[in-house]
Amino acid sequence: MNCFDCALAGRTTTAIGTCMSCGGGVCAAEVQLDVHELPHTGSPGNYTHRVTRSLICQTCAAVITEHLPDRGRSVKSVAGR
Ligand SMILES: [Zn+2]
Ligand SMILES: [Zn+2]
Repeated sequence: MNCFDCALAGRTTTAIGTCMSCGGGVCAAEVQLDVHELPHTGSPGNYTHRVTRSLICQTCAAVITEHLPDRGRSVKSVAGR
C-alpha cells in the first residue's frame, strides 16, 4: 500500500501504516500519533488512566487538533525523532 496523501500530491511513497481516522495509507515522513488517555474506573474515587495511541495522517491530525483539543488528546509528530 502507498501513502494516500503522497499519492494526492503526485508522489509514490510506501506506507508504513494506516490512518485510523480516514483509512488511508500513511508514510513514515507524514505519520502522526493521536495519543489519548482512556480512563478506567478502578475503585470508587480511584481512577487510573491508560495511554493509547493511533496512527493518523497529517490531514486527520489537523482536524483532531482543531476540533478535539480537550479529552486528553494530543497529536505528536513521529518524523524527526
Ligand atoms: Zn506520505
Ligand atoms: Zn487520515
